[in-house]
Amino acid sequence: MAKKSKWTPEKGEQAMIAGIVEGSPEAVGVAVIRLDCGCRKMAAVDKNGEPASKIIMYRDRAESICDLCKKDNGAFHRMTEQFISWTQPEPADEDKKRIIAKVLGVVDETIH
Ligand SMILES: [Zn+2]
Repeated sequence: MAKKSKWTPEKGEQAMIAGIVEGSPEAVGVAVIRLDCGCRKMAAVDKNGEPASKIIMYRDRAESICDLCKKDNGAFHRMTEQFISWTQPEPADEDKKRIIAKVLGVVDETIH
């Protein structure tokens, strides 16, 4: 039996995040927005919660984002999940809260 590739969208996401961080020396994390169609929106953020890169949209293992995203540019209401993937070493919890509040517009009390 042939082994199935263990590729998952999360792996693609991690690779994208790593690439964004590499190209953004100011970045302390990457804001990730997952959309219901499977596409992602990402942007690096600096320690002040300001964008540290352009917003990047991509679709895992695809040449381009889907037709719907091309039309609505990844509309906010189709978002299924949003979080920040921190670089190592991670910022202090207080800084994280501040950055998250600014970037995502919410203060998440359950930061791990
Ligand atoms: Zn899409």
